Amino acid sequence: MIFLDAAATTPVRREVLEAMWPYLSGDFGNPSSHHSLGGSAAAALAGARAAVAPALGCRPGEVVFTSGGTEADNLAVKGIALARRAADPRLDRVVISAVEHPAVEESARYLERVHGFAVDVVPVDSYGRVTVEALAAALRPETALASIMYANNEVGTVQPVARLAALARARGIPFHTDAVQAAGWLPLDTATLGVDALSISGHKLGAPKGSGALFLRSRTRLEPVIHGGGQERGRRSGTENVAGAVALATALTLALTAQRDRASRVAALRDGFIRSVQAAVPGAVLTGHPSERLPSVASFCFPGTSGESVLLELERLGVICSSGSACAAGSDEPSPVLRAMGIGAELAQTAVRFSFDSTITAAELQEAAAAVCAAVGSVQALGSP
Ligand code: PLP
Repeated sequence: MIFLDAAATTPVRREVLEAMWPYLSGDFGNPSSHHSLGGSAAAALAGARAAVAPALGCRPGEVVFTSGGTEADNLAVKGIALARRAADPRLDRVVISAVEHPAVEESARYLERVHGFAVDVVPVDSYGRVTVEALAAALRPETALASIMYANNEVGTVQPVARLAALARARGIPFHTDAVQAAGWLPLDTATLGVDALSISGHKLGAPKGSGALFLRSRTRLEPVIHGGGQERGRRSGTENVAGAVALATALTLALTAQRDRASRVAALRDGFIRSVQAAVPGAVLTGHPSERLPSVASFCFPGTSGESVLLELERLGVICSSGSACAAGSDEPSPVLRAMGIGAELAQTAVRFSFDSTITAAELQEAAAAVCAAVGSVQALGSP
């Protein structure tokens, strides 16, 4: 089996499992407990926070552990917008892009539905990129928050986050970015990016599902989303997932080791794979930006097929991939991301995403490209009269 769905999730790395194991077994304490078991759990949590901070170029106090990317996005979008409006009732708009993950998009829609905010959606170009001009046109004096993702989960397009963040912040508007797909591939230094908030998720990096973090720049106002015992300095209540935090810290640290070399090796393999698929499948359309894309993602539309049929055929041939985001899988609707890029509904239904982790080899991708050719060919043959 060749696994080309790493953007959906990754297996837990052995080093990560070993690092977290003590906090699931002998050192199982609750960090809020005042006995020695609690103390060692609190120390482990502090250690994890201290390890995540340099990876994000921030202070440990600016790291909020969450249950994953979805919660980090919810906390940033709802928490910052609600806190800003509480401080100034005129701030009742949020800006997002047309290609956000549902965790951001639905958080913005919740603000609209339940709290009376207006949502301004910044369009993208045909590569899925938000331009500085398009963001500038969407920002208003009433904008409470702008949230534009770092790298797209369906097509891999990378946004010019530093320039977008600089624009928003120059107008006094906090800027959040969903870096769930970027983590492990692109620089996450929040000082260089100039963002006020950034979300990451452990399970895309070799940590277990259900671990994540939000970087929140100090002095950024935040209304908590989950209320309770005041953990995470009141920003996220609930007994901390100590093992999950240790896992995230370990996975992130490992991902940063030789990140640049790994990213360029995988980008070269990705480019080879794209060339092979385009040579073998006439009419294959690469979606997303040709160069400003994640090293780990190659996405196509295959005219004359249905993406779901190609997936099934590929799985039969031993290649696992997806038709877009795992969240949209099973939905009959064409991907809103592809539609926002100007791709017609019919072509959008033919989308297939291949995403790799750093263990991918040239031989696997060669085999996968041959399987893609065979799968598309047989689906097209079935569809033709
Ligand atoms: N944001 C993006 C861009 C994603 O790709 C995902 C997961 O696929 C998420 C957010 C949600 O993260 P999680 O699965 O940790 O909730």
